[in-house]
Amino acid sequence: MIKKIELIKIFDIPIKLDLSWFIILAFITWTLASGYFPAKYPELDKFIYLIMGLFSALLLFASVLLHELSHALVARRNNIPIRGITLFIFGGVAEMDQEPPNARSEILMAAAGPLCSGILSFLFLLIGNLFTNLLPFTPIIGILQYCVFINMALMIFNLLPGLPLDGGRILRAIIWNYTGDIKKATYTTSRIGSALGVFLIIFGFFNIFSGNFIGGLWLALIGIFVKGAADTGYQQLLSGKLLEGIKISKIMTRNLVIVNDSITLDRLVDDYFLKHRYNSYPVVRNGMLIGIVSIHDVNEIPREDWNKINVSKILDSQIINLCLSPDDEATNAMSKMVKKGIGRIPVLDNGKLVGIVSRRDIMQIIKHKIDLRV
Ligand SMILES: [Zn+2]
Repeated sequence: MIKKIELIKIFDIPIKLDLSWFIILAFITWTLASGYFPAKYPELDKFIYLIMGLFSALLLFASVLLHELSHALVARRNNIPIRGITLFIFGGVAEMDQEPPNARSEILMAAAGPLCSGILSFLFLLIGNLFTNLLPFTPIIGILQYCVFINMALMIFNLLPGLPLDGGRILRAIIWNYTGDIKKATYTTSRIGSALGVFLIIFGFFNIFSGNFIGGLWLALIGIFVKGAADTGYQQLLSGKLLEGIKISKIMTRNLVIVNDSITLDRLVDDYFLKHRYNSYPVVRNGMLIGIVSIHDVNEIPREDWNKINVSKILDSQIINLCLSPDDEATNAMSKMVKKGIGRIPVLDNGKLVGIVSRRDIMQIIKHKIDLRV
């Protein structure tokens, strides 16, 4: 299933569109054309409102893109690699591969976005004034004034001091700078972010019940998103803390069920998937690990071909590059699983397959540590 489309590259940074973006483009256009613009500029043609709505929505997304792009460019100047920018239902995210190396570069990177939105707001104000004086054409002035407002709103909203918002990152860097403890800083600011999310949800519902349905719904949805992101960040931090110092060798499964790459798929299904309880198996050829085969891989092949196709044809060999060693940290396994969206990683000792570590193994350790408070 395609969820993201890659549009273009700006300064070598890939810009991607999440499919939810199209829903939101239509929604914003419709809200502006049916409510905001008719209320502010009465007696224009319906078609004009629609055009105004569409242009405003497109300019809003261009503004969000510039906001994210300024994060990305400052990040790159500070040697933080950026994988790309994705525009989605609530705006945009610059995808970073690692956390900033120090508090200073975190502040610079986080402040770049709101600063860009502030500058854009000011620029739209200038252009709007120019049009008011030289060419007072209401639809254009309406669009420009909306852009002044929305960029100002983007700046203020993003400066709220809770993670995952820019203001939260700035506050985190300040606490980090003073205490030297990035975990404590993340803890505090993600708690603030979560509280901000709850506040937005309540404030949204308050708006809904006092008649501002669309605006209220919007606030509540953003609140849910902010709270979710803050809580996930906090849980990742917490589980990272609980896993600290635990080696892969301690949690990996050693009794392996291994598949030979020359068997056919119907044998794989009968002798492995229906017999054992695993969703995927390491595959070997002459005793050497060459990949992993999962239930999803089998499902992509029509059933009538199962007796003709070998495991070697469908296995995932990319996993070889992700393999862990028994001496690696468990946190390392977790971040690989989260980043690549995989559930099991083979463990190699000097090239020899010695075990496999799964999401379940890691969750089990976290759960035990929480239950036993150790
Ligand atoms: Zn931002």
